[in-house]
Formats: sequence, C-alpha cells, structure tokens
Amino acid sequence: MRLILLGPPGSGKGTQAQRLLHRYGIAQLSTGEMLRAAVAAQTPVGLKAKDVMASGGLVPDEIVIGIISDRLDQPDAAKGFILDGFPRTVPQAEALDELLKKKHMRLDAVIELRVNESALLQRVENRVAEMRARGEEVRIDDTPEVLTNRLASYRSLTEPLIHYYSERRKLLTVDGMMTIEHVSREINRILAAIGAVGAKTPKKAAAAKPTARGAKKSAKSAGKRVKSAARGAGASAKGAKAAKNAKAGRKAGKSAPRGAKTAGRKAPAGSRARAAAKTKKAAKKVTKKRAKA
Ligand code: AMP
Repeated sequence: MRLILLGPPGSGKGTQAQRLLHRYGIAQLSTGEMLRAAVAAQTPVGLKAKDVMASGGLVPDEIVIGIISDRLDQPDAAKGFILDGFPRTVPQAEALDELLKKKHMRLDAVIELRVNESALLQRVENRVAEMRARGEEVRIDDTPEVLTNRLASYRSLTEPLIHYYSERRKLLTVDGMMTIEHVSREINRILAAIGAVGAKTPKKAAAAKPTARGAKKSAKSAGKRVKSAARGAGASAKGAKAAKNAKAGRKAGKSAPRGAKTAGRKAPAGSRARAAAKTKKAAKKVTKKRAKA
C-alpha cells in the first residue's frame, strides 16, 4: 500500500500515519521528522533547513525531494509506505510521480484530511500541552505565530495539490474533524473499498468469496462509497458482472431442454435420452405386433 496523507498542520496526519503503520506494518515517511532529525544532528541538510523550519516556511524542493528519493530506496519502503508531509508543492508532486515511475511503484491513494481551520490553533495548543505533560521537547514551530505562517504556506503552496490529485483520480477526502478513532475507521474503510489493503484483512478475505450475492453487494457498496476508487470498485464490478452472467447462464440452462432444437446445436443430454427411450418403446411395440402376427 502506498499512500499520501494530505492536510494542514494539526489535521492529524502524523497520528493517522502512526495508526496505519501499526495496522499494516508499512513505513511512515515523514519529511518533517527527517528534517528535525537532520537539524538535531546538524547535518548539512539540517543546517540549511533550520531557519526556514523555525519560521514556518517550506524547505527548498530539491532538498526534500532528495531526502524522499533516498528514503524510498530503503528496504522497508518496498513493502509500502505512507507519505506524511510530502509532497507539499506541485513541483514536489511532479518529482514524486517521476521517482515512483522510475522505481516501478504505483500510488494507491491520496487521503486528504479536511479540517476546519479555526480548530487548528486549538489542536496545536492541545498537542503542545500534551507533549509538555509527557515531559517531551516541544517543537519550536508549534507557536501561534509560526502556525499562522505554516497555514499560509499550506494554503498557497500545498492546497493546489488537492486539484492535482483529484485530476489524477487519486484524491479521497475524509472529514478530519471527527474523533481520531472515527477518522481511522473511515480511512480503513476507504482503503478496503479501493482494494489497497488486499486480502490482508479478514473482512476483505470473506468478501472475496465468489458468491453472486457477495460480489454484487461489494461492487455496489464500493462504487457508492468511493467514486474515484477505480481499482477496487472496478474489480468488484467485474466480479458482479461475472456473477450476473453465471446467473443468466443458469437460467438459460434450465429452460434450454424444451427449445433445444436450434440450428446447428446438439440437443441437450436430457432431451436426447427421452428421444432414445421413445424410439426404444416404439421398436418394442413393432416387435410384439410382429410376434403376434
Ligand atoms: P511537519 O512536521 O510535516 O509539520 O513539518 C515541519 C516543517 O518541516 C515544515 O513546516 C517545513 O518547514 C518543513 N517541511 C516538512 N516537509 C516539507 C516538505 N515536503 N517541503 C518543504 N518543507 C517541509
């Protein structure tokens, strides 16, 4: 499974990425975390990124693209990944398309966590209070002033990605204002509907049983739930079509013996047997008549 989580700061991308990582065992690729580690380690990348990050701006595209390119080559990314905080600009998204193409990887979906901006400040304040309570170091960019800048960067540079991915039929939007649990459930439901979680989940394995009703039902609900989820819905629709044909075939089979004498077609076994029995009976009658005579 290869996913992008898209949303403004404080929308819950990190939290949901963690949950997905535990559930599906795939890598979480967070450019923000990688950059913070680089800043802490004072690497050349960290030194370049430090001030931009502290002010709430975006680190230059070529730096983050380089980081992601290297990270995608790590063995744990081969199983699948969740991109959290990348891409953040259209050039980053275009570079990602190129990278994935070169690495023969296909993106399953981009999940947008849509939130009410006025709630974000409160959320970030809560996050800071929780981190302090746990005795953790608080991010220097988690202040109201820097958050305002981060939101401005999101609006002008990252929000165009909504259009970018919706044009490519990859975008799926989830209401990020629900509880963490509800958002997770919604994401998992979407992933199942598009077929991104395959036969891993027991639910999906049961739905994959080739019963006509099951196939029809899953196609209907997948189509209803995720309009742009072409892969999963398409697969189920195929199943439903096959089931319909099978049903039609069974129906035709039942009524076939009566009108079986169609041009160029052999009569079905049932009618052939009846005809043979009739001939046998007539032959017996003739033999008896002859014997009497
Ligand atoms: P995050 O943890 O995702 O909120 O990222 C923290 C900060 O790291 C951002 O405010 C940016 O300064 C920087 N950053 C993270 N990801 C990117 C990216 N894809 N492009 C540019 N800057 C980024």
